[in-house]
Amino acid sequence: MDLEAAGSYPFLGRGAAPPLAIARTEGCYLVTSDGRRILDAAGGAIVGNIGYGREEVAEVARCALLEATYVVPPFATESRVRLVSRLRASWLPEHLSRIVFASGGSDAVDLALRIARQHFVSRGEATRWKVIGRELSYHGTTLATLSVGGHGKRRSGFEPLLTPHPKAPACYPLRCERCRGHGECSLACADAFEELVAREGAETIAAVIAEPVGGSTAGALVPPAGYWPRLAEICRRHGILLIADEVMTGFGRTGRRFAVEHWGVTPDLLVAGKGLSGGYAPIAAVFATEAVVEPIVARGDDVMFYTYSAHPASCAIADKVLEILERERLVERAATLGRYLGDRLASLRRHPHVGDTRGLGLLHAVELVRDRRTLEPFPPESRMCARVVMAGLRRGVFFYPGGAPAPDVLCMGPPFVIEPGEIDFAVEALEKAIGDAVH
Ligand code: PLP
Repeated sequence: MDLEAAGSYPFLGRGAAPPLAIARTEGCYLVTSDGRRILDAAGGAIVGNIGYGREEVAEVARCALLEATYVVPPFATESRVRLVSRLRASWLPEHLSRIVFASGGSDAVDLALRIARQHFVSRGEATRWKVIGRELSYHGTTLATLSVGGHGKRRSGFEPLLTPHPKAPACYPLRCERCRGHGECSLACADAFEELVAREGAETIAAVIAEPVGGSTAGALVPPAGYWPRLAEICRRHGILLIADEVMTGFGRTGRRFAVEHWGVTPDLLVAGKGLSGGYAPIAAVFATEAVVEPIVARGDDVMFYTYSAHPASCAIADKVLEILERERLVERAATLGRYLGDRLASLRRHPHVGDTRGLGLLHAVELVRDRRTLEPFPPESRMCARVVMAGLRRGVFFYPGGAPAPDVLCMGPPFVIEPGEIDFAVEALEKAIGDAVH
């Protein structure tokens, strides 16, 4: 396969990336068909955690496909039972005892929205249907998940098809207008949820949905310590369900099993995807409390599954990936290496075109600006982010582009098995790639 062949690959969503023909993946690397090794500093779409090409995962997949090729999701299989047992024993906060599987992040968030709505319908509170989302957020590309999300570029053109759910402001310390002049953060962006609840009427609100740490929409936005506890308290007081969308942050990415654990928060529903199988199989899940599910079950209602929910091979693969994360203590490694990555990226803050570097664990981002003093962004037509991604590829590193469409952010979310020397190489390549793109 050559680059010309890659150019004819009929995939519509090519985005900012140039066509690249990838022959194989190994460890933290993409290997092109002409033999170049590219360090995948983004773990694909912030997915890869145990590194690529592990024999023992491939072997489990082979056996699982032979053992039970396809079984409808409501039936138990050996691999489904094993995965549920492992999740309950080693991964899930105790109160999240109910598990429903999906096949990807978007359909899992969609499922969480359905469960929240079904909860209130079953309780006889059918007036509660709205879901408060946030600006500069992303929860997936189905119409329901686009509706609760705040990713301008991905919503663009679909507006007539979207349900108008209310939006709270993003938690964006670098550019926060509310705290400007106050000296320190007053958590005004969390309080904005309560203002929205008052405006809309609590009796119309089913849920609040938020990413504990933002993904690529505005680049690894980390909230101040009091933000999530305040959000949880507001939801509790108004009888609103709190949905933590941990599709990107779940399963160790931020250096804890789940990012909400950094702040001791216990959401009513938690959605996870990517890291559950580390890129080896399509699988995602919604974890819920007994209290959320109980009214649905009591009324004898069902939550409709997707055909590929809990596919037996995906469950077997996820179980093996989680076993490897445990055995090699990779979540702890993500915490340690995350601090190293954060320190290395901080050295870029003196760069004239870097407005901020931020992140938690192995999810970080660099925000590009035209002017560091005023934080003025580059004009959209300069496509700066895409240019840096391409320059990075030429220098042997893949960074994940972000921005909705502004700000210009480059995200890093490497596999947890990356070495410190490779982090050094990636950060140096990023600095040079910004130079290449700007000049
Ligand atoms: N939610 C969050 C927080 C995400 O980061 C993503 C994907 O990046 C999704 C949902 C959608 O997941 P998927 O692309 O697997 O459908």
